[in-house]
Amino acid sequence: MPLRFLLLDDNPDDRLLARRELERHFPDCATTEVGDSKGFEEVAAAGFPFDLVITDYQMRWTTGLDVLKLIKAHDPQLSVIMFTATGTQEIAVEAMKHGLDDYVIKSPRHYARLPVAVRTCLDRTEIRSRAIRSETRLASLLENIQLGVFRMSLDGEIEAGNKAFWSMLGLASGEYSKAAHRPLIDEVRRHIADLKATLDAADLQFDDGDLGTGGRAFKVKLVRVRVNGHDAVDGIAEDVTSLRRADLEILRLNADLEQRIATRTRQLQEANEALETFGFSVSHDMREPLRTIQGYANVLKQDFAEGNLDKAGLYIHRIEAVAHRVDTMVTDLLEFARLSRTEIAIDAVPVADALHEMKGSLHGEIQQARARLEFDVPSGLTVRAHRQTFVQALANLVSNALKFVRPGEPPVVRVTAAQAGSMVRVTVTDEGIGIVPSALGRIFNVFERLHSEEEYPGTGIGLAIVKKGVERMGGQVAVESTPGNGSAFSIDLPAPAQP
Ligand code: ADP
Repeated sequence: MPLRFLLLDDNPDDRLLARRELERHFPDCATTEVGDSKGFEEVAAAGFPFDLVITDYQMRWTTGLDVLKLIKAHDPQLSVIMFTATGTQEIAVEAMKHGLDDYVIKSPRHYARLPVAVRTCLDRTEIRSRAIRSETRLASLLENIQLGVFRMSLDGEIEAGNKAFWSMLGLASGEYSKAAHRPLIDEVRRHIADLKATLDAADLQFDDGDLGTGGRAFKVKLVRVRVNGHDAVDGIAEDVTSLRRADLEILRLNADLEQRIATRTRQLQEANEALETFGFSVSHDMREPLRTIQGYANVLKQDFAEGNLDKAGLYIHRIEAVAHRVDTMVTDLLEFARLSRTEIAIDAVPVADALHEMKGSLHGEIQQARARLEFDVPSGLTVRAHRQTFVQALANLVSNALKFVRPGEPPVVRVTAAQAGSMVRVTVTDEGIGIVPSALGRIFNVFERLHSEEEYPGTGIGLAIVKKGVERMGGQVAVESTPGNGSAFSIDLPAPAQP
């Protein structure tokens, strides 16, 4: 776009000479000449669409000073040069006060000065508008960034702050008074003391409360600056709450994970140890009957070689009996292993129903032992259990109660049940031989038996099955016993949730 000049002068010769000078130096310029009030009103009505105005001082219809005031009132950035032969120094000073950009004396010697003044004015305007542009850009950036930018005097007074800064403080712009305290500002003030004494810059990290309950975290950078002859501190504050919360969450999750890994590792170690013990006792206890079979086989072999077969029938019978026992042990062991492995479905099972089923399955044993069996169970009492596993556990306990009595004595077995809080306890009490206190801790282990096969037959897995089954249903087992006076085995299982 060509440079647009407005030339105001009521003397057409002066205009011609001035125009000539302008066009010599600015070949592309478009110069509008105005020599009367009508022409001036027209350009004023058009909003002074010019890059620069050159005006005479004394005109028939106005003065350069009035023209200047009008133009500057309309657009303070539009450059005005006064080019006059009639002006005085006083007029020049007055005009400068009203924003005149330059003053050139109109005389043949000075015509050449006009384009120089024009060039200087145009350059100055360009520099000014560039400065304004970058200042506006900076100001808008400052207002719109998420960082709080502020300046504070060395005695802690806030001198300036952008929008983000005020909103970090929870205040509307400028609402802050020196007396008001905000944790963020108090923290910055504490550090200003250091800046005053020794430092040029400081970084601080600060939480204004517990991040878990609405507190916020800030990172602040402070730099000591010198502004217009006095020291101040420029600060940039960043709200890092979400970052810090994420960090804390990661720490918490890590700790949680470590805790879970530790628990799992411990459980695995325990399971490993249990498995080792189990393997050891299984191999140990299974070998014993096998050795017995081997022993009888050897004796049979010797007798056979010596042609003495008197006791062969007895030995074969013993071998059969021991083989049968091994078979029972393997069956029980498989049942125990199945219980550890298979999924079991938990339902509400009425205790009375389970006892009824158990009694049916032990009918023969009960009859044979001429036992007295008593149940004391509130009607409607239910437990959360896997029906078959629960019945099996009860059967194992009652079967033991029938078995471990003094020879010839008819067993007396009592089953009671009651709810205690969220659990139901079912207790099987007998008046049998009882258990020595030192053995109470181990009778629930696989193959753990306190008596010989002759005294009381069994495989030693019954109680292990009870314990494993009850634990898989979310319950636990316990025993109390007095040797010679009987034992009480109890099963605790969860009661169904109240509707
Ligand atoms: P088993 O009955 O096959 O021997 P269990 O695992 O059921 O195996 O029982 C383990 C051991 O605990 C029994 O051998 C016995 O010594 C002891 N025991 C279990 N129940 C009773 C009871 N009611 N009275 C006395 N001793 C018992």
